Amino acid sequence: MLDRRHFMQSLLAVASLATLPAATANAATGPSVSGAPETPAGGTPATPRTTQAPGFFRLPVGGVTVFALFDAHGKLDPAILHGADRKDIDALLEDAGIPAGQPATSNVNCFLLDAGTRRVLMDTGAGAFFGTRGGYLPENLRAAGYTPGGIDHVLLSHLHPDHALGLVDAAGARVFPNAGVHVSAPELDYWTSDATLAAAPEGRKAGLLALRKALAPYRDAGRLHTFAPGAAPLADVPLVTSVDLPGHTPGHCGFRVTSGGAALLFWADIIHSTPVQFARPEVSIDFDVDQKAAVATRLRLLPQVAAEDCWVAGSHLPFPGLGRVRARNGGKGGYAWLPVNYADGL
Ligand SMILES: [Zn+2]
Repeated sequence: MLDRRHFMQSLLAVASLATLPAATANAATGPSVSGAPETPAGGTPATPRTTQAPGFFRLPVGGVTVFALFDAHGKLDPAILHGADRKDIDALLEDAGIPAGQPATSNVNCFLLDAGTRRVLMDTGAGAFFGTRGGYLPENLRAAGYTPGGIDHVLLSHLHPDHALGLVDAAGARVFPNAGVHVSAPELDYWTSDATLAAAPEGRKAGLLALRKALAPYRDAGRLHTFAPGAAPLADVPLVTSVDLPGHTPGHCGFRVTSGGAALLFWADIIHSTPVQFARPEVSIDFDVDQKAAVATRLRLLPQVAAEDCWVAGSHLPFPGLGRVRARNGGKGGYAWLPVNYADGL
């Protein structure tokens, strides 16, 4: 319990913390009390921004750097989540501010690894496929200080449209002309087979045909390569290994970056609904090709990343999609998502 002397010391400490930032803000060119931008002495007036901040986030991982890059956004209908009581799912969503039955905003994040001599892009976003809701990857790549022509390798976690169709622009030309494209062999076989196209519902055929067009210019240039799930896909970037994470799609893979005692796992589509699937990892989604296998993979992976306390990068976690995972009651109470802090990237 606090005695009176300690209580007064605490109050003074809080008071000094409260006054310090205000004094600092007045000394700089921050907003005035009225809210109007101030004019710096001898300078031009600051212009209030009317657009969002550039969609990149920088994170050092050991001796290398990973950037999250925003590509697209969409809506996730809770009706496509399965495997838990509907009331339970609705309650988790309502806790996150999403009224029952209402769609939740979802992001598509891509990740760039700057390994010094090589630049590796993990997934390419949706390209033109999502219309005005997507295709922001190239501009955010540039905002981070890189160019599409400077990418040496593109690693694809899987071949769903929101991960692979950013390979080409609206005219069908390669966006990454100097990159080799790498995807797991079972993934490429499944999505480019005539049997998969024939069996697809009508609404999904357009995506499959667009995928063929997105891969073709890389294949024609001799730049489309496959790897076995679990293998290290890049001979010249040995600090990257693939991780076999089947279920969402047959050859769905993550990519693990290890450097200087630190590690980051890009786990792609292990989680689609942050409020629901961390708390209830047994919940699957309609997009999973094999929902049972996707649940098994998630139940196997979450305790591993929680125990290791490594960085996690997720395609559909709220931007920047970087953070760590904590097990609640050893995993019996589900898991918590601990998003990265801005200061982690300074
Ligand atoms: Zn996805």
